[in-house]
Amino acid sequence: MTALAAGLDVGGTKALCVVVDATGAVLAEGEAPSPRDGSPSALEALGGLVAGVLANAGADTAGVTLGVGLAGMVADGRLVVSPHLPHLVGVDVEGTLARALGARVRGVNDADAALAAEWAWGSARGARDVAMVTLGTGIGGSFVLDGRPVAGRHGFAGEIGHMVVVPGGEPCVCGGRGCWERYVSGEALTRYARAALDEGRLDLGDLAGGPPTALGPALIASARAGAPGAAAVLDEFAHWLAVGLANLVVALDLERVVLGGGLGAEADLYVGTVLEDLGARLEGAEARGPLALGPAAYGARAGAVGAARLGGRP
Ligand SMILES: [Zn+2]
Repeated sequence: MTALAAGLDVGGTKALCVVVDATGAVLAEGEAPSPRDGSPSALEALGGLVAGVLANAGADTAGVTLGVGLAGMVADGRLVVSPHLPHLVGVDVEGTLARALGARVRGVNDADAALAAEWAWGSARGARDVAMVTLGTGIGGSFVLDGRPVAGRHGFAGEIGHMVVVPGGEPCVCGGRGCWERYVSGEALTRYARAALDEGRLDLGDLAGGPPTALGPALIASARAGAPGAAAVLDEFAHWLAVGLANLVVALDLERVVLGGGLGAEADLYVGTVLEDLGARLEGAEARGPLALGPAAYGARAGAVGAARLGGRP
């Protein structure tokens, strides 16, 4: 077997599979909707996605390693808590995919995977104190501190989406209220855009039609086209991103933060606003110097690429 590895990133809405070589180059990729239940047939569909991508890369499934990035708290390869994938909690994704593919399979936290990719081959390369913040359906987090990945007592370190930033605030899928991810996620951006539309602060023209899930992408497209109303909505998003980042930086004295997930890939639209806000907010901002803040080099693929990297590790 060559040094090819497969990675699968199972998020709240979609599953992305990549095959990478030993240098982190993506040789093939494919995506499918995330499984809607934990049934064998739903997991077999995931296996089919992986097999198809491996075939496109010219690789055999037998003997390959597959890492599976899962959105939630992972112990011994299985999801134990997951507001975004509750139907996969306790499900033996590793074993089912291993049997279906004849591959060695390892389940990992999706943000840990994203940081592994960026630390090895991407935007976090060479960094000693760095955080990955994935911005998608929710927020995922992972840290390297003093040059070492941080697991925490149970392997659950980095559940930063559920740091409370507004006591008694928006209800969260975790059962709490006011969690950071309720203010900085795809869902939050949609909420800000909806409010701005309703109040006449935003005009998305023809883009405003379609399902609610289309609103976030429409807003991004409008901001890219230079519409001031869309930029103002992104400022709101950037403000809340800065609030949580400031907490992370004062707690951990980070040199770098990499933004992953689908919204991380759009970071050029809002990162300037975030840094301005941080500069005004951080204790000892001048003594710290500038925070390196930017998108993952692999964009929204970082989780899948890093899952491939971690999948082959003991
Ligand atoms: Zn929460």
